[in-house]
Amino acid sequence: MDESKPQHFIQQIISRDLADGVVKSVLTRFPPEPNGYLHIGHAKSICVNFGLARQYGGQCNLRFDDTNPEKEEDEYVQAIQHDVQWLGFQWNGEVRYASDYFDQFYDWAVHLINAGKAYICELSAEETREYRGTLTEAGKNSPWRERPAAESLALLEQMRKGEIAEGKMTLRAKIDMAAANINLRDPVLYRVKRMPHHRTGDAWNIYPSYDFAHGQGDAIEGITHSICTLEFEDHRPLYDWFLDNLPVPARPRQYEFGRLNLNYTITSKRKLKQLVDEGHVDGWDDPRMPTLSGLRRRGVTPAAIRNFCDSLAVAKTDGVVDMAQFEHFIRDDLNDNALRAMCVLNPLKVVFTNVAEEAVETLTAPAHPNREELGERELPFTREIYIDRSDFSEDTSLSRKKFKRLVLGDYVRLRAAYVIRADEVVRDASGEIVQINASIVPGTVGENPPEGISPRGVIHWVSASHCVDLEVRLLDRLFSAPFPGAGGGDFLADVNPDSLQVLSGCKGEPGLANATLQQHYQFEREGYFYLDSRYSSAERLVFNRTIGLRDNWAKGA
Ligand code: ATP
Ligand code: MG
Repeated sequence: MDESKPQHFIQQIISRDLADGVVKSVLTRFPPEPNGYLHIGHAKSICVNFGLARQYGGQCNLRFDDTNPEKEEDEYVQAIQHDVQWLGFQWNGEVRYASDYFDQFYDWAVHLINAGKAYICELSAEETREYRGTLTEAGKNSPWRERPAAESLALLEQMRKGEIAEGKMTLRAKIDMAAANINLRDPVLYRVKRMPHHRTGDAWNIYPSYDFAHGQGDAIEGITHSICTLEFEDHRPLYDWFLDNLPVPARPRQYEFGRLNLNYTITSKRKLKQLVDEGHVDGWDDPRMPTLSGLRRRGVTPAAIRNFCDSLAVAKTDGVVDMAQFEHFIRDDLNDNALRAMCVLNPLKVVFTNVAEEAVETLTAPAHPNREELGERELPFTREIYIDRSDFSEDTSLSRKKFKRLVLGDYVRLRAAYVIRADEVVRDASGEIVQINASIVPGTVGENPPEGISPRGVIHWVSASHCVDLEVRLLDRLFSAPFPGAGGGDFLADVNPDSLQVLSGCKGEPGLANATLQQHYQFEREGYFYLDSRYSSAERLVFNRTIGLRDNWAKGA
């Protein structure tokens, strides 16, 4: 949290509550449903909830909202914990689960029935919809609304035991079928779902609704500020109604802020799951996915995500944030921390006719231009090297301003090495250039060339005999449209067909053989790269390009 920024509305509320003694310390919670992996939108919620706790010297609980066994799995529970810790946050005490409170929720349901504030309803799903009314029309009371409490209690018990078929009965709160807020028109508290739960097993055949579980879970844990996204604003009266009508041990308050929406991607778990299930990506952690596990595999750092989230407004409106803003923070952090290395993506051999065949000269370059403490790297210089194909041209008419690379008959500097001149091209039978014969200008390592020799620019290179082979995966945005599926179209139609380009036979400087997941790299002139955690092995080096050095989308490139 940036303390120099003006307080956002939730900070103002918390500051006031602490000053007025309404709360003694701050306890927030992050409540994911374990039905998918966390994505960049969740990161905003995590940074807000854990960030506020940290800022005010409080705590934040991690509570799984596991009230719907249909879509929930332990795999997601584990992945979510890992992602929260990776982002740099630690929850208060043990992980909590809404399912830990199922007995208590049930007792409170009984309490409402006994108080004449809940009843078992036997309307079908379709009838329930009809009775509910519309935004402009009041609803109608269910014919079961006045059934005696004893009858509702007995039926609830039967539902719980699995003696009632799914869809036959629900437990509903008795509030007001004419309420302007549709959420208050006798909302459902329990549904029959005769299926096992990943934590409670076969213990239950009914499961509470989100609305009946959330506020009460907050109250049990003593959450002071229950912060969620704007779509729950209309549920707040119901949140309050339950707390006002139940003997809860504490009185939490709900506050809503705008969701994070990013263009050129999606933050819907359902759609992300579809991309995975239908094989459009190679898993939840595909480096093109906006999931935290995908961003991690791509090489985005937790600091970049936190800095980005802290830059976002916490406000009462939903907005769309430009992907370029996120990318700015990704580059910013990597620029400061990534080790520099050279890697030639499209190798073209250069042979120096004035260097001996067996010569190996060890040159050095800083691991980072501004961070001496990171030390130096060794760059063996030999008779044969590789440069990138795009760094050479035969066209001697190319202006020095436009093409600051190697041109036949002209000079260029090799990064951290000699000034060289291209003398001759060698072609294969099909006419393709396969080699350049060149010469070094002696004495030019770290020194200016003699009078009259002026290199066009600086290019990167690696020794042909001392390099390592690598595979490089160039990643682009997963969607080519800013709002995938906008206007009712299929979001899959907007998947960018060129979002993954695999280059094999790339040549890296020798130190890259020791790359680990602890290091991020800038391959000079090519972008930021990170070892792929799935495809790399002792025999195979695979790097993902986290991001290019500059924003090419802004220029429409
Ligand atoms: P679902 O449709 O499955 O409920 P969800 O995105 O709301 O999806 P949850 O697991 O319920 O997923 O979300 C956990 C928390 O993260 C909630 O408090 C939710 O408000 C918050 N959250 C989810 N998406 C975003 C987002 N795009 N921006 C900010 N917060 C988000
Ligand atoms: Mg949700």
